[in-house]
Amino acid sequence: MYYCSQCGSKQLIKKVPEGDTRSRIVCEKCHSIHYQNPKIVTGCLPIWEDKVLLCKRAIEPRSGFWTLPAGYMEKDESVKEGAIRETWEEAGANVKQLQLYLIVSSSQKSVSMIFLGQLCDLKFAPGIESLDVQLFTKEEIPWEEISFRFVREALTYYFEDRVKNQFPVRVD
Ligand SMILES: [Zn+2]
Repeated sequence: MYYCSQCGSKQLIKKVPEGDTRSRIVCEKCHSIHYQNPKIVTGCLPIWEDKVLLCKRAIEPRSGFWTLPAGYMEKDESVKEGAIRETWEEAGANVKQLQLYLIVSSSQKSVSMIFLGQLCDLKFAPGIESLDVQLFTKEEIPWEEISFRFVREALTYYFEDRVKNQFPVRVD
């Protein structure tokens, strides 16, 4: 951030505001405090029988690697609605019976909330951000070509939990 989003001034400094305990970016002109908080990422692990649906990324970062449909939550939707929307946008698929499964908060920039979801049918197709969309059994998962750590985590937990048919919420 190079200028104040409130007043346009470039007089931004780092300091601990009065009554605060952390250093923040503060505008010296209008005194706005620019907090930097994680954004919410919402996504889905779509399931069909013994398979999961993955998308091959068409965009950076990690273009060409496999991921779950996920993205930033919009301000006019719930996390669950966001997960359904992302699954539609990136995988052309409809999901139902969403159930919160994994919360990843260890990244500094975002908190990811991943739902398990049942595919409504076998209709799916790559959206504009995907090169390909495919169903994979556990054995078919391209582990070497997984895009992000949270995707690897969700898949690892899922195939472990499926053996017991119990899917507790994981918080990392
Ligand atoms: Zn300002």
